[in-house]
Amino acid sequence: MGFIKLGRNFKDSFLRSLAWKPAIATPASSNLHAPGQFIYSNKIETSAANLLVAHGKVLEILRGKIPLPEVVELFITNFCDFSCPHCRCAPYRGGNDQYFNFGTMGALFDELREKGIKTLEFGGGGEPLMHPQVNDIFRRLNEQAFRVGLITNGYRFTQEPGLMDLVIGCSDWVRFSLDAVSNDTFRKVHGKSNLNYDALREAIIAMVNKTRQKSPADHRPRIGLKMIIQQFNKHEVLRSIDEALAMGVDNMQFKFLEGHPLALNSDRERSDIIDGLKLKIQEIKDTGLVVEILAGYGGERQELKKCRMAVLHPLVDWDGEIYMCAFFHHRKERHSIGNINDGGFFVHWGTEEHKRKIAETNPKECVINCPMLRYDPVIEYIEKESARFHYI
Ligand code: SF4
Ligand code: SF4
Repeated sequence: MGFIKLGRNFKDSFLRSLAWKPAIATPASSNLHAPGQFIYSNKIETSAANLLVAHGKVLEILRGKIPLPEVVELFITNFCDFSCPHCRCAPYRGGNDQYFNFGTMGALFDELREKGIKTLEFGGGGEPLMHPQVNDIFRRLNEQAFRVGLITNGYRFTQEPGLMDLVIGCSDWVRFSLDAVSNDTFRKVHGKSNLNYDALREAIIAMVNKTRQKSPADHRPRIGLKMIIQQFNKHEVLRSIDEALAMGVDNMQFKFLEGHPLALNSDRERSDIIDGLKLKIQEIKDTGLVVEILAGYGGERQELKKCRMAVLHPLVDWDGEIYMCAFFHHRKERHSIGNINDGGFFVHWGTEEHKRKIAETNPKECVINCPMLRYDPVIEYIEKESARFHYI
């Protein structure tokens, strides 16, 4: 293997970023982990592979250029049917009249396809499936052969199961923000007294069964669940793994809520949960369920590092504003590089204004533990070793 020439620290950190993570007995709140890093995972960490695939663009960035995005994230609505007390986007939330214009979105899709960009991520912002023309959007994504990653509360599938086939048709992954595994907790965490966890559970199982009908060689979405660990659901954390197994999903992600009155403030409580999860993960290690525990966005800032790869993952908000990264709320007024209603997407891309705004990004204002920072060891590897790439 080609790591012999690398410095020991770098070699170790890169290998760590690729390897199966052994238990790290570090509670999230103690902040001993590197920004964006996994606290615990029972699979190969995929972030390294993501960036290696885009190594040509990484090298362009290192040479001071602005390459085409690798993925474009879209917040297609500013409305959500849930009302979670922990929602990071709540201060910016709008009504159900705030959504991406379908015609403008179609023009954006055409522009992206023309440049060869075919990977989109849908998140929020609001709840993507609450866009009034969501069926038409996913129909079009299928027709134009886009590949999609979808973060959703999934509740619309309980009312409109037909939407599922359209989503399955073009998605590489779907992540349900579940956050609870009982009716009572589900209603508390999501801030609505009339929600029905069992209905969503049935919808997720239906989706898993549909994806399983495809052969492993087919494009089929990996279905995942996410739990933001907080006061309301801490008693359901371990049980959620049993639920994930019962539902037959592919992966499960845990993250601690940070910087919120509902966050767990006791280090002891957090480390007990992590220890319990690690034991549980060992118990279920032969099931194939991938489980990750990630650092939440918050806590104490470890180091001030300037982010270099955000340019590969810009965001277009429901009103057409283009932001340099998906974490723009902290400086909304200075993070936009233009609006697609003003000439399209690429008229604003790679301009002097865009370069100036990237240069002016202040890491002190960035999201603490931003996942984009976890790429640093991989960037270093690409920089040092790219001359060998392709010579298989
Ligand atoms: S489901 Fe997601 S977007 Fe909607 S309120 Fe909850 S956290 Fe916010
Ligand atoms: S918040 Fe900062 S570190 Fe995170 S992606 Fe945006 S620019 Fe990069």
